[in-house]
Amino acid sequence: MGLSKTIWTNPTEFLRSQHPDTPVLFFSPSRAQAAARRFIDGFPGMVTYAVKSNPTEVMVENLAAAGIRGYDCASPFEIDLIRRLAPDAAIHYNNPVRARHEIAYAVERGVKSYSVDSKSELAKLIEMVLAEGTEISVRFKLPVAGAAYNFGAKFGATSELAVELLKTVAAAGYIPSMTFHPGTQCTDPAAWEAYIREAAVIAADAGVTIARLNVGGGFPSHRLNAVEPQLEETFALIDRVASEAFGADRPLLVCEPGRALCGDAFALAARVKAVRDDLHLFLNDGVYGALAELPLIGVIDRIEVLQPDGTRRAGEPAPRIVFGPTCDSVDRLPGELMLPEDIAEGDYVVWQGMGSYSTVTNTRFNGFGELQIATVLGLTL
Ligand SMILES: *Cc1c(COP(=O)(O)O)cnc(C)c1O
Repeated sequence: MGLSKTIWTNPTEFLRSQHPDTPVLFFSPSRAQAAARRFIDGFPGMVTYAVKSNPTEVMVENLAAAGIRGYDCASPFEIDLIRRLAPDAAIHYNNPVRARHEIAYAVERGVKSYSVDSKSELAKLIEMVLAEGTEISVRFKLPVAGAAYNFGAKFGATSELAVELLKTVAAAGYIPSMTFHPGTQCTDPAAWEAYIREAAVIAADAGVTIARLNVGGGFPSHRLNAVEPQLEETFALIDRVASEAFGADRPLLVCEPGRALCGDAFALAARVKAVRDDLHLFLNDGVYGALAELPLIGVIDRIEVLQPDGTRRAGEPAPRIVFGPTCDSVDRLPGELMLPEDIAEGDYVVWQGMGSYSTVTNTRFNGFGELQIATVLGLTL
């Protein structure tokens, strides 16, 4: 993956002058910084970035420049990345299962915040991490509501276990906190309400006053033209419910969005390799590339099509079956895409809102997946 040193005006200027034959992700620093400011201004607590959603260095650097001072890391690689790009930032090591060598690495790099959802992993932390000044957040789960898929299937203690873990954390002298992750692309703010109320019940049952409550990521990014994320409503709900549920013991709040910070900062251009017998469209990118998430989370319909000279295709939208470049039959975008009926070989299909889980899940399967990143002043075509 190469990084263009030139800053282009917009994707159109790049496409019509470069005619790239490999997929291109366009990065807008101003969009990244605007998303960061929207969270910093609106969220009633500390905003951290879930690095896994897009660990591209320019992304992290722009969030840091915009004032993001904390990062949710899941591996030594991510810890290293943040220590290098944002040396003074807080690192929250919120992957609740860690090998001993990973814990040792985090301790060596000065990580002071960990999450946990089991007795066995808590025992490892107690053995290896000094309690003094270190926060351990108990991660719990509820049956899912409102998320695009079920995160609770992998991580999170039941409420009963969370009570037990929280007591142990406090008794061992760590700073006791709690965390949850309501799921991803959570368009229904009610998901946070149920979790925050349950966190208060767990803390009360454990007899522990928690220092912080991390309300996770899961804030939606803009995927469908017709559905603009209403982040401020969710922020207001979190603020209100935290006060109602905890009263005088209200903990400091933390959030750790991924897609809501990086999603809108990138657009993707994929080139039409072939229109097979007027029926099927073959692109140079697909579900093994930057479009990996579409089958999991659903389509993004913020699409425009450009001809190689940069002019927009304006034909009537017509449904097409769209395949990626590999020879695997799974490499097909979900359903049918509405695309201009005059779309032709050599055109570029440009998706907005492609910053999350795209650069980082792209593979080289079948020899495809060479992906460049070009920096642009704006993403509007
Ligand atoms: C992936 C993840 C996030 C970020 O999720 P988004 O849906 O991208 O906001 C936050 N916290 C945890 C623990 C995660 O695993």
